[in-house]
Amino acid sequence: MCQSCTNNLLDNLLKHGHLIDTGVDGLYGRSGVFEDVVMRFDALITRWGGGDGPEVMRFPPAMNRKHFEKSGYLKSFPHLAGTVHSFAGDEKAHANLLEQVGNGEDWTLGQKSTEVVLTPAACYVLYPVVAKRGPLSGEGALFDLQSYCFRHEPSKEPTRMQLFRMREYVRFGTPDQVTEFRATWLERGQKMMAELGVPFDLDVANDPFFGRAGRMLANNQRDQRLKFELLIPINSVESPTACLSFNYHQDHFGSTWGIQTPDGEVAHTACVGFGMERVALALFKHHGMNVENWPAAIRKVLWS
Ligand code: AMP
Ligand code: ZN
Repeated sequence: MCQSCTNNLLDNLLKHGHLIDTGVDGLYGRSGVFEDVVMRFDALITRWGGGDGPEVMRFPPAMNRKHFEKSGYLKSFPHLAGTVHSFAGDEKAHANLLEQVGNGEDWTLGQKSTEVVLTPAACYVLYPVVAKRGPLSGEGALFDLQSYCFRHEPSKEPTRMQLFRMREYVRFGTPDQVTEFRATWLERGQKMMAELGVPFDLDVANDPFFGRAGRMLANNQRDQRLKFELLIPINSVESPTACLSFNYHQDHFGSTWGIQTPDGEVAHTACVGFGMERVALALFKHHGMNVENWPAAIRKVLWS
Protein backbone atom coordinates (compact mmCIF):
# COMPACT_ATOMS: atom_id res chain seq x y z
CA MET A 1 0.00 0.00 0.00
CA CYS A 2 1.38 3.45 -0.82
CA GLN A 3 1.85 6.13 1.86
CA SER A 4 -1.32 8.03 1.06
CA CYS A 5 -3.58 4.98 0.58
CA THR A 6 -6.36 4.28 3.07
CA ASN A 7 -8.54 1.23 3.67
CA ASN A 8 -11.19 2.53 1.31
CA LEU A 9 -10.60 1.06 -2.13
CA LEU A 10 -12.83 3.50 -4.00
CA ASP A 11 -11.09 6.50 -2.39
CA ASN A 12 -7.70 5.10 -3.33
CA LEU A 13 -8.72 4.43 -6.93
CA LEU A 14 -10.11 7.96 -7.26
CA LYS A 15 -7.08 9.50 -5.56
CA HIS A 16 -4.72 7.70 -7.92
CA GLY A 17 -6.86 8.65 -10.92
CA HIS A 18 -7.59 5.04 -11.90
CA LEU A 19 -11.33 5.76 -11.62
CA ILE A 20 -12.76 9.17 -12.46
CA ASP A 21 -15.81 10.43 -10.61
CA THR A 22 -18.88 11.38 -12.69
CA GLY A 23 -21.16 12.26 -9.80
CA VAL A 24 -23.12 8.99 -10.22
CA ASP A 25 -22.38 5.93 -8.10
CA GLY A 26 -21.22 3.06 -10.28
CA LEU A 27 -20.46 5.22 -13.33
CA TYR A 28 -16.76 5.98 -13.66
CA GLY A 29 -14.21 7.15 -16.15
CA ARG A 30 -10.99 5.13 -16.21
CA SER A 31 -7.36 6.15 -16.48
CA GLY A 32 -5.07 5.08 -19.30
CA VAL A 33 -3.29 2.74 -16.89
CA PHE A 34 -6.58 1.15 -15.80
CA GLU A 35 -7.53 0.65 -19.45
CA ASP A 36 -4.14 -0.85 -20.19
CA VAL A 37 -4.70 -3.42 -17.41
CA VAL A 38 -8.13 -4.22 -18.85
CA MET A 39 -6.63 -4.66 -22.33
CA ARG A 40 -3.84 -6.87 -21.01
CA PHE A 41 -6.34 -9.05 -19.20
CA ASP A 42 -8.42 -9.19 -22.38
CA ALA A 43 -5.35 -10.45 -24.25
CA LEU A 44 -4.69 -13.01 -21.51
CA ILE A 45 -8.21 -14.40 -21.93
CA THR A 46 -7.54 -14.77 -25.66
CA ARG A 47 -4.29 -16.61 -24.91
CA TRP A 48 -6.29 -19.17 -22.91
CA GLY A 49 -9.39 -19.36 -25.11
CA GLY A 50 -8.42 -18.28 -28.62
CA GLY A 51 -6.98 -21.68 -29.49
CA ASP A 52 -10.48 -23.20 -29.44
CA GLY A 53 -11.21 -21.20 -32.59
CA PRO A 54 -14.27 -19.22 -31.45
CA GLU A 55 -16.06 -16.95 -33.88
CA VAL A 56 -15.36 -13.41 -32.70
CA MET A 57 -18.25 -10.95 -32.67
CA ARG A 58 -18.56 -7.48 -31.17
CA PHE A 59 -21.80 -5.58 -30.68
CA PRO A 60 -22.56 -2.06 -29.44
CA PRO A 61 -23.73 -1.88 -25.82
CA ALA A 62 -27.40 -1.86 -26.79
CA MET A 63 -29.71 -4.48 -28.23
CA ASN A 64 -32.96 -4.89 -30.14
CA ARG A 65 -35.78 -4.23 -27.66
CA LYS A 66 -37.94 -6.99 -29.18
CA HIS A 67 -35.14 -9.51 -28.68
CA PHE A 68 -34.69 -8.30 -25.12
CA GLU A 69 -38.42 -8.76 -24.42
CA LYS A 70 -38.36 -12.28 -25.83
CA SER A 71 -35.23 -13.25 -23.87
CA GLY A 72 -37.16 -13.35 -20.58
CA TYR A 73 -34.82 -10.87 -18.87
CA LEU A 74 -37.75 -8.82 -17.58
CA LYS A 75 -39.21 -11.87 -15.83
CA SER A 76 -36.02 -12.40 -13.84
CA PHE A 77 -34.32 -9.00 -13.50
CA PRO A 78 -36.78 -6.11 -14.07
CA HIS A 79 -34.91 -4.12 -11.42
CA LEU A 80 -31.60 -4.21 -13.30
CA ALA A 81 -32.80 -3.44 -16.82
CA GLY A 82 -31.94 -0.18 -18.55
CA THR A 83 -34.17 1.06 -21.35
CA VAL A 84 -33.46 3.84 -23.85
CA HIS A 85 -36.09 6.54 -24.35
CA SER A 86 -36.07 9.61 -26.52
CA PHE A 87 -37.96 12.79 -27.22
CA ALA A 88 -40.61 12.42 -29.91
CA GLY A 89 -42.79 15.48 -29.47
CA ASP A 90 -43.61 18.62 -31.43
CA GLU A 91 -42.37 22.17 -30.84
CA LYS A 92 -44.88 22.76 -28.08
CA ALA A 93 -43.74 19.64 -26.30
CA HIS A 94 -40.16 20.82 -26.76
CA ALA A 95 -40.97 24.16 -25.09
CA ASN A 96 -42.60 22.23 -22.25
CA LEU A 97 -39.59 20.04 -21.87
CA LEU A 98 -37.22 22.99 -21.63
CA GLU A 99 -39.47 24.62 -19.06
CA GLN A 100 -39.47 21.44 -16.98
CA VAL A 101 -35.67 21.23 -17.18
CA GLY A 102 -35.42 24.89 -16.18
CA ASN A 103 -37.71 24.34 -13.20
CA GLY A 104 -35.83 21.26 -12.10
CA GLU A 105 -38.96 19.16 -12.72
CA ASP A 106 -39.05 15.64 -14.14
CA TRP A 107 -38.77 16.19 -17.89
CA THR A 108 -38.49 12.47 -18.71
CA LEU A 109 -42.18 11.56 -18.38
CA GLY A 110 -42.96 12.50 -21.99
CA GLN A 111 -40.11 10.42 -23.40
CA LYS A 112 -40.97 7.57 -25.75
CA SER A 113 -39.28 4.19 -25.75
CA THR A 114 -36.90 3.55 -28.65
CA GLU A 115 -36.28 0.26 -30.42
CA VAL A 116 -33.17 -0.39 -28.31
CA VAL A 117 -32.43 -1.24 -24.69
CA LEU A 118 -29.05 -1.44 -22.96
CA THR A 119 -27.33 -4.82 -23.12
CA PRO A 120 -27.59 -6.58 -19.73
CA ALA A 121 -25.05 -9.36 -20.45
CA ALA A 122 -22.86 -9.77 -23.50
CA CYS A 123 -24.48 -13.03 -24.63
CA TYR A 124 -28.10 -11.81 -24.77
CA VAL A 125 -27.47 -10.26 -28.18
CA LEU A 126 -26.12 -13.51 -29.58
CA TYR A 127 -28.96 -16.04 -29.26
CA PRO A 128 -31.29 -14.53 -31.91
CA VAL A 129 -28.30 -14.16 -34.25
CA VAL A 130 -27.43 -17.85 -33.92
CA ALA A 131 -31.11 -18.88 -34.18
CA LYS A 132 -31.37 -17.09 -37.53
CA ARG A 133 -28.57 -19.23 -38.96
CA GLY A 134 -30.62 -22.41 -38.61
CA PRO A 135 -29.62 -25.71 -36.96
CA LEU A 136 -26.13 -26.06 -35.49
CA SER A 137 -23.51 -28.26 -37.10
CA GLY A 138 -22.39 -31.46 -35.38
CA GLU A 139 -19.60 -29.59 -33.57
CA GLY A 140 -22.04 -27.07 -32.19
CA ALA A 141 -20.79 -23.47 -32.07
CA LEU A 142 -18.47 -21.29 -30.01
CA PHE A 143 -18.38 -17.50 -29.85
CA ASP A 144 -16.13 -14.83 -28.36
CA LEU A 145 -17.94 -11.67 -27.25
CA GLN A 146 -17.17 -8.52 -25.37
CA SER A 147 -19.59 -5.73 -24.56
CA TYR A 148 -20.26 -2.95 -22.16
CA CYS A 149 -23.24 -4.10 -20.08
CA PHE A 150 -25.69 -2.05 -18.06
CA ARG A 151 -27.23 -3.02 -14.75
CA HIS A 152 -29.09 -0.57 -12.58
CA GLU A 153 -27.41 -1.35 -9.30
CA PRO A 154 -25.82 1.92 -8.11
CA SER A 155 -23.39 1.30 -5.27
CA LYS A 156 -20.45 2.85 -3.45
CA GLU A 157 -18.58 -0.40 -3.96
CA PRO A 158 -16.30 0.13 -6.95
CA THR A 159 -16.86 -3.51 -7.94
CA ARG A 160 -20.55 -2.87 -8.51
CA MET A 161 -20.71 -0.64 -11.55
CA GLN A 162 -23.70 0.35 -13.64
CA LEU A 163 -21.74 0.12 -16.89
CA PHE A 164 -18.94 -2.41 -17.13
CA ARG A 165 -17.35 -4.71 -19.67
CA MET A 166 -18.03 -8.39 -19.90
CA ARG A 167 -15.95 -10.70 -22.07
CA GLU A 168 -17.64 -14.02 -22.78
CA TYR A 169 -17.16 -17.31 -24.49
CA VAL A 170 -20.51 -18.85 -25.36
CA ARG A 171 -20.95 -22.48 -26.34
CA PHE A 172 -23.93 -24.04 -28.16
CA GLY A 173 -24.43 -27.75 -28.67
CA THR A 174 -25.55 -30.99 -27.08
CA PRO A 175 -25.67 -31.23 -23.27
CA ASP A 176 -22.35 -33.13 -23.38
CA GLN A 177 -20.58 -30.56 -25.55
CA VAL A 178 -21.80 -27.70 -23.43
CA THR A 179 -21.05 -29.21 -20.02
CA GLU A 180 -17.57 -30.18 -21.21
CA PHE A 181 -16.98 -26.55 -22.24
CA ARG A 182 -17.97 -25.35 -18.82
CA ALA A 183 -15.82 -27.92 -17.04
CA THR A 184 -12.83 -26.88 -19.18
CA TRP A 185 -13.33 -23.21 -18.27
CA LEU A 186 -13.79 -23.98 -14.59
CA GLU A 187 -10.25 -25.40 -14.72
CA ARG A 188 -8.78 -22.76 -16.99
CA GLY A 189 -10.33 -19.86 -15.11
CA GLN A 190 -8.65 -20.97 -11.90
CA LYS A 191 -5.27 -21.49 -13.56
CA MET A 192 -5.52 -18.08 -15.22
CA MET A 193 -6.32 -16.26 -12.00
CA ALA A 194 -3.62 -18.17 -10.11
CA GLU A 195 -1.12 -16.75 -12.64
CA LEU A 196 -2.29 -13.29 -11.66
CA GLY A 197 -1.43 -13.84 -8.00
CA VAL A 198 -4.82 -12.97 -6.53
CA PRO A 199 -6.54 -15.07 -3.84
CA PHE A 200 -9.76 -16.70 -4.98
CA ASP A 201 -12.41 -19.30 -4.24
CA LEU A 202 -14.78 -21.12 -6.48
CA ASP A 203 -18.38 -21.56 -5.35
CA VAL A 204 -21.85 -22.40 -6.60
CA ALA A 205 -23.92 -19.27 -6.99
CA ASN A 206 -27.26 -17.88 -8.00
CA ASP A 207 -28.33 -14.81 -9.93
CA PRO A 208 -30.18 -12.01 -8.11
CA PHE A 209 -33.61 -12.99 -9.46
CA PHE A 210 -36.42 -10.56 -8.61
CA GLY A 211 -39.26 -11.18 -6.15
CA ARG A 212 -40.79 -14.23 -4.52
CA ALA A 213 -40.80 -16.34 -7.69
CA GLY A 214 -37.16 -15.32 -8.04
CA ARG A 215 -36.27 -17.01 -4.77
CA MET A 216 -37.43 -20.30 -6.23
CA LEU A 217 -35.40 -19.73 -9.39
CA ALA A 218 -32.35 -18.90 -7.28
CA ASN A 219 -32.76 -22.06 -5.17
CA ASN A 220 -33.20 -24.16 -8.27
CA GLN A 221 -30.09 -22.64 -9.87
CA ARG A 222 -28.06 -23.44 -6.78
CA ASP A 223 -29.47 -26.95 -6.27
CA GLN A 224 -28.74 -27.87 -9.86
CA ARG A 225 -25.30 -26.21 -9.75
CA LEU A 226 -26.06 -24.23 -12.90
CA LYS A 227 -23.88 -21.26 -11.92
CA PHE A 228 -20.38 -21.16 -10.49
CA GLU A 229 -18.45 -18.05 -9.63
CA LEU A 230 -14.79 -17.38 -9.09
CA LEU A 231 -14.76 -15.07 -6.09
CA ILE A 232 -11.95 -12.69 -5.13
CA PRO A 233 -11.87 -10.65 -1.92
CA ILE A 234 -11.82 -7.06 -3.18
CA ASN A 235 -14.09 -4.92 -0.98
CA SER A 236 -13.87 -7.30 1.94
CA VAL A 237 -12.80 -10.80 2.86
CA GLU A 238 -16.27 -11.57 4.26
CA SER A 239 -18.08 -10.93 0.99
CA PRO A 240 -15.74 -11.65 -1.91
CA THR A 241 -16.67 -10.46 -5.41
CA ALA A 242 -17.66 -12.64 -8.37
CA CYS A 243 -15.09 -11.90 -11.06
CA LEU A 244 -15.68 -14.84 -13.40
CA SER A 245 -19.00 -16.66 -13.90
CA PHE A 246 -19.59 -20.09 -15.38
CA ASN A 247 -23.20 -20.53 -16.43
CA TYR A 248 -25.04 -23.55 -17.77
CA HIS A 249 -28.39 -22.40 -19.16
CA GLN A 250 -29.54 -25.92 -20.08
CA ASP A 251 -32.11 -25.54 -22.90
CA HIS A 252 -33.40 -22.12 -21.74
CA PHE A 253 -32.05 -20.04 -24.63
CA GLY A 254 -32.24 -22.92 -27.09
CA SER A 255 -35.97 -23.31 -26.55
CA THR A 256 -36.66 -19.57 -26.27
CA TRP A 257 -35.02 -18.97 -29.65
CA GLY A 258 -35.70 -22.31 -31.36
CA ILE A 259 -32.03 -23.28 -31.72
CA GLN A 260 -31.52 -26.94 -32.68
CA THR A 261 -28.78 -29.51 -32.93
CA PRO A 262 -28.49 -31.44 -36.26
CA ASP A 263 -30.61 -34.23 -34.67
CA GLY A 264 -33.48 -31.81 -34.13
CA GLU A 265 -32.95 -31.64 -30.37
CA VAL A 266 -33.15 -28.32 -28.56
CA ALA A 267 -29.62 -26.92 -28.25
CA HIS A 268 -28.12 -26.39 -24.83
CA THR A 269 -25.94 -23.38 -24.06
CA ALA A 270 -23.33 -22.30 -21.53
CA CYS A 271 -21.19 -19.23 -21.14
CA VAL A 272 -18.15 -18.14 -19.20
CA GLY A 273 -18.16 -14.43 -18.35
CA PHE A 274 -15.16 -12.34 -17.28
CA GLY A 275 -15.82 -9.10 -15.41
CA MET A 276 -13.10 -6.92 -16.94
CA GLU A 277 -13.27 -4.06 -14.45
CA ARG A 278 -13.63 -6.42 -11.50
CA VAL A 279 -10.47 -8.29 -12.42
CA ALA A 280 -8.60 -4.99 -12.90
CA LEU A 281 -9.85 -3.87 -9.48
CA ALA A 282 -8.72 -7.16 -7.95
CA LEU A 283 -5.23 -6.58 -9.36
CA PHE A 284 -5.06 -3.00 -8.03
CA LYS A 285 -6.36 -4.18 -4.68
CA HIS A 286 -3.87 -7.02 -4.25
CA HIS A 287 -0.80 -5.64 -6.01
CA GLY A 288 -1.15 -1.93 -5.25
CA MET A 289 -2.13 1.26 -7.03
CA ASN A 290 1.15 1.56 -8.92
CA VAL A 291 1.43 -1.05 -11.69
CA GLU A 292 5.20 -0.50 -11.93
CA ASN A 293 5.49 -1.94 -8.42
CA TRP A 294 3.48 -5.08 -9.17
CA PRO A 295 5.41 -8.33 -8.70
CA ALA A 296 7.65 -9.10 -11.69
CA ALA A 297 5.95 -12.46 -12.27
CA ILE A 298 2.53 -10.83 -12.58
CA ARG A 299 3.86 -8.08 -14.84
CA LYS A 300 5.38 -10.74 -17.04
CA VAL A 301 2.07 -12.58 -17.40
CA LEU A 302 0.22 -9.41 -18.38
CA TRP A 303 2.84 -7.46 -20.30
CA SER A 304 4.73 -10.19 -22.12
P1 AMP B 1 -23.29 -12.37 -14.36
O1 AMP B 1 -24.05 -12.38 -15.64
O2 AMP B 1 -24.03 -11.69 -13.25
O3 AMP B 1 -22.76 -13.71 -13.97
O4 AMP B 1 -22.02 -11.43 -14.64
C1 AMP B 1 -20.92 -11.84 -15.40
C2 AMP B 1 -19.68 -11.17 -14.87
O5 AMP B 1 -19.81 -9.75 -15.01
C3 AMP B 1 -19.50 -11.38 -13.35
O6 AMP B 1 -18.74 -12.52 -13.11
C4 AMP B 1 -18.77 -10.13 -12.94
O7 AMP B 1 -17.40 -10.33 -13.04
C5 AMP B 1 -19.24 -9.08 -13.91
N1 AMP B 1 -20.25 -8.19 -13.29
C6 AMP B 1 -21.54 -8.48 -13.00
N2 AMP B 1 -22.16 -7.41 -12.44
C7 AMP B 1 -21.23 -6.42 -12.39
C8 AMP B 1 -21.24 -5.06 -11.90
N3 AMP B 1 -22.34 -4.50 -11.40
N4 AMP B 1 -20.09 -4.35 -12.00
C9 AMP B 1 -18.97 -4.88 -12.53
N5 AMP B 1 -18.91 -6.15 -12.99
C10 AMP B 1 -20.01 -6.92 -12.92
ZN1 ZN C 1 -23.61 -15.16 -20.92
